[in-house]
Amino acid sequence: MARIGAATIEQNREIADPCHAQADYTMKLSPSFQIDPREPWVEEHNREVREVWDAYKADRPTCVPVIFTGARTLYLEENRIDYRTYYENPDEMLRLQLEWQRRAKELPFGDTLLAGTPATWSVYVDFHPVASASCFGCPVVFRPDAVPAHECAHLSREQCRDMPMPDLFTSGLLPRQREFMDRFDRICNAGLTFLGKPVKRFKPSLPSIGGGTFSTALDIRGPEIMADMYEDPDFVHTFLERIEEWHIALHRAWSAMEGVPHALDTPDGGTFGLYGLFDHGIDMLSPQIYDEFLVALILKLSRKYGKRPSTSLHHCGRGTHLFPLMQKRFGLTAIDALTWPINDVGKVRREIGYEVWIKAVISDSILRTTPDAIRQAAKDFFTPEVKGKGRLSLWVAGEVTGIPAENYRTLYAAVREYGRY
Ligand SMILES: [Zn+2]
Repeated sequence: MARIGAATIEQNREIADPCHAQADYTMKLSPSFQIDPREPWVEEHNREVREVWDAYKADRPTCVPVIFTGARTLYLEENRIDYRTYYENPDEMLRLQLEWQRRAKELPFGDTLLAGTPATWSVYVDFHPVASASCFGCPVVFRPDAVPAHECAHLSREQCRDMPMPDLFTSGLLPRQREFMDRFDRICNAGLTFLGKPVKRFKPSLPSIGGGTFSTALDIRGPEIMADMYEDPDFVHTFLERIEEWHIALHRAWSAMEGVPHALDTPDGGTFGLYGLFDHGIDMLSPQIYDEFLVALILKLSRKYGKRPSTSLHHCGRGTHLFPLMQKRFGLTAIDALTWPINDVGKVRREIGYEVWIKAVISDSILRTTPDAIRQAAKDFFTPEVKGKGRLSLWVAGEVTGIPAENYRTLYAAVREYGRY
């Protein structure tokens, strides 16, 4: 594909701000796509992408659609950018999000329409996945080549019991979240445009907080929480409920601050589980224990807030042994990030039913190998049992470095071959 040098334009604006009368900013943004939307290969790609998605959504798929989100990591690698600058500087966070979105529309590695601009570019303040844990005092590590990670706080049972819940505005990374939000707003409100379209900040700001109830409990107490489940179940019930209520209070407080209605406060409809059901770490629980502690809590709070539990599950671990129970309790309709080969996707589809929409992932460890190995993996993965009659998409997350562009290209071609119906 043609690459047009690293041409940039500079946008200089004066920002009207009562505190900083004439704060200037300079942001170097690409002036155009690096591919030409009129090139035949781009038109052909876009035509095929529309066909694949239309058929998938009509539930008469012709091929498994590929959702490629690796542009972010590829862009950082192509430009040798240290990931830490993204978290240190709001202007850089904003700029990179725009450039990633542009790059994603140039790479033909998935079923994304290329070289088109949205009506509005959306940006958001992003401290995923450490914001929640940081509020509870978990040490956060910013790394050069990946999203940040955090360590466990390893509090004792007594410390967890006596712990006041973190302040909704001043704990952990929340002040930085707020500072970045304000900076984004000042820049966007001053009239920032990118490739001719306006840029707006997505609200509310905190979907990026990360952390489910059980994963946050693990972050604070550590794996000991699983022994607590046997030794002191009352402690665990209370602790999990406090964490979930804290998450709710946090989202409500920030939604109110930003003037956005909170999902639990809408008069009718909506679900409990603001962004679906998700909880990293539940892989280690037995169905009985998951039922006793997590299902019970979700049902209790759903009743309290007058909502039904979400039927959409994000699970990127290996906890498929919990799926039949979740199906029974919540009536799952969609599962996201189901990773192969650590999970038997065919077995999941058989057990929970082919009407459930599955977004599957082929493990990054395979994507880091060779084109031949990737082609073979796609052939092995797309069995008739896995494909069913449809409702299957493949998410190529590309969250780790070290995956050559050629490997993404190979996977996409292999899905077109083996993922056909
Ligand atoms: Zn996940």
